[in-house]
Amino acid sequence: MEERPEERKAGINDEMLTEIRLAAQMILSGELVGFPTETVYGLGANALDMEAVKKIYAAKGRPSDNPLIIHVCDIKMAESVVELNWRARFLMDTFWPGPLSLVLKAKGTIPHVTRGGLDTAAVRMPDNAIALELIRAAGVPIAAPSANRSGRPSPTDAATVREDIGDAVLMVLDGGPTKVGLESTVLDVSGESPMLLRPGGISKEDIEGALHIPVLLPTDGDPLKRSPGTRYRHYAPKIPLIMTDDPCDTEAGGKKWAWIGTSEPTGSPFIKIIFKDTEEYAKELFRVLRLIEKSGAEIIIAQIPDETGIGRALKDRLVRASGI
Ligand code: AMP
Ligand code: MG
Repeated sequence: MEERPEERKAGINDEMLTEIRLAAQMILSGELVGFPTETVYGLGANALDMEAVKKIYAAKGRPSDNPLIIHVCDIKMAESVVELNWRARFLMDTFWPGPLSLVLKAKGTIPHVTRGGLDTAAVRMPDNAIALELIRAAGVPIAAPSANRSGRPSPTDAATVREDIGDAVLMVLDGGPTKVGLESTVLDVSGESPMLLRPGGISKEDIEGALHIPVLLPTDGDPLKRSPGTRYRHYAPKIPLIMTDDPCDTEAGGKKWAWIGTSEPTGSPFIKIIFKDTEEYAKELFRVLRLIEKSGAEIIIAQIPDETGIGRALKDRLVRASGI
């Protein structure tokens, strides 16, 4: 195989490069491929191929009105699918590659099924060498939601992808555990004011610091209209999860309880997982939820994190995992 110094630099060896090229061919022939990003593992299909995209919805059991994020390898590819404005360009320059999905007016190149019937589409350039090389090798944007059955915690390693939807994918590229562990921030920049549709890997404060204007949060009516994904229960473990501010409040009604948080609980949990900080709590959450549900615990008690930085995204996922 010929020398590709830029890939060597990015830490992709020849074996992985061969797998990526194979995966790219599968994408181009309308199949689904599991691949790592810096947030969670994605279930990818050619975003321009209606039939391939339909397979994603079927594999996940995902409602067809919940649009997919379109992954690109550079700004030029983003421009082939959405209308860019100056604010979007600035955010792309500042935060890409990275966990920031930007909702913009869609171009006709993107089939309606990819964008859940909306006239906007979400685009993002992932900060992961394998993902970027896959998109580059395929030469088309890749639509990819998280590679889990709809409603379940997102997968943060390749084994979990195989366990959850292994039969739907021809291959899963294994890039090891993911770096961020929670999904990307979804920011609508199609209108006058930027609006945070889903908190994620890039915080509201980071975006406000870059733009020097406030980022709006959806008011009660908005999330339903503007980010269809927030309508559905998500990230749910198979046992109940409740949230608490108080590490002492751990009676759990006589059930075998598991504790997750950054402080020690009082009482005797059946299992406890203490994270060193909010970043680690966020990064490990989905993996730990899946571990605990297999442990024999009957209920999970999760400490509410501070709502700064990644804490806002973490709290959002906990709330939705609890089904509140
Ligand atoms: P997932 O693919 O599971 O990470 O979810 C993608 C999230 O992005 C969901 O909450 C979607 O509703 C949201 N999303 C994708 N495209 C759009 C769009 N055009 N407008 C609003 N939200 C979007
Ligand atoms: Mg998801």
